[in-house]
Amino acid sequence: MKISTDGLIIRQQNIGEQDKLVTILTRDLGVVRAFVRGAKNIKSSKSAPTSLLCYSGFNIFEGKDKYIVDDASVKEMFFDLRSDVEKVALAQYFCELASLVCPEGQNCEKQLSLILNALYLITKGNRPQSLIKACVELRLLSLSGYMPDLVMCRECGEYSGDTMYFLLATGTIQCGDCFLKSPKSNALPMDATLLHAMRHIVFSEDKKLFAFNLPEKALESLSYITESYTLRVLEKDLKTLHFYKTIKS
Ligand SMILES: [Zn+2]
Repeated sequence: MKISTDGLIIRQQNIGEQDKLVTILTRDLGVVRAFVRGAKNIKSSKSAPTSLLCYSGFNIFEGKDKYIVDDASVKEMFFDLRSDVEKVALAQYFCELASLVCPEGQNCEKQLSLILNALYLITKGNRPQSLIKACVELRLLSLSGYMPDLVMCRECGEYSGDTMYFLLATGTIQCGDCFLKSPKSNALPMDATLLHAMRHIVFSEDKKLFAFNLPEKALESLSYITESYTLRVLEKDLKTLHFYKTIKS
């Protein structure tokens, strides 16, 4: 069976001298692992469109037990991103996240456009990376079945307060009063601004997602909370995140 779709190459591994195995975040089939025959040959028309961080159109042949890329054409290479190590590192972290949380065999249009929009914004460089990172982390988890419940305090229903607590283990919130009565472990305090930003990331329309700003300190706190929640959900260390943070510091 032949499938036509578009997607972003989020991982590539060399197989032997000539071939490679790529992981593609596709629009129609979610995460797909597919072989690319002869991709290492520089004359191959499949070489560029199947390279890491390339967004391409694909014709994919679905065999008995594997997918094979039949042909591919570049839609966006993100050239200006590739020359900056820090930007590439952040982009690769997004790719690893997508490979871990996006489903296989299901439509992933929203996840794909989230990552593509994030890559365009990183490339342009006029939005803070901590904002883009927080948006991708929390929104991608929300789209993939790990949406935190940020509506109200889980004990008393309080909607807002000077300080609310985000409970990493359950992805729920607790108000200051309830926290004093029965403090939960792994709780991160949030002021009203941070909670508002978290709610915006989870509930806003796609096109408004990245359209907010916070002072730098608040952005760092936001990014710390969304990253902590991400690591708690995935229950593993992410090499790409570690690398990004090493470069940034
Ligand atoms: Zn409460």
